[in-house]
Amino acid sequence: MFAGENIGLSFCRGWFPLFTQLCEEIDALLGPDKRGFHWVQLKEKFGSARFNWEMNGHRPAPMINLISGTQVTMVVRRSSGSSPAEADGSQPSIPRRIDNLVQQATLATRSLCIVCGKPGIPNQEEPWILVLCDEHAIQHRQGELESAWFDKEEQ
Ligand SMILES: [Zn+2]
Repeated sequence: MFAGENIGLSFCRGWFPLFTQLCEEIDALLGPDKRGFHWVQLKEKFGSARFNWEMNGHRPAPMINLISGTQVTMVVRRSSGSSPAEADGSQPSIPRRIDNLVQQATLATRSLCIVCGKPGIPNQEEPWILVLCDEHAIQHRQGELESAWFDKEEQ
């Protein structure tokens, strides 16, 4: 899954269990033949994760961030021609099902502390939205927040 080109894998510790589970679910969906699935980019944006992937030319449906004040609402736009297959009773395609799994995980990161993964709420006081649990929100206010980022820690 991590083979091939990527444009940046940047990751919060708090998301790790969720992401591990996501990888396992995608792995199960793909079966023994991984069919070219790989992660293109993992990053944080507006307080939640963005997991971008690619699979034989399939890419995630674009997510649009609607920002009003400090509230960010994510809207997923279905690309044309990829209508849900449920209409005729057949299973959605594998890329479509991966898209759904990734979207659920993305939404879940909006309420997980980026440091420890406990339930958290977005910090609304700053332009850079961080989701933190009570304990880490206090640390953050005191300027003592430990780094939550794998890529920064391990270089
Ligand atoms: Zn925390």
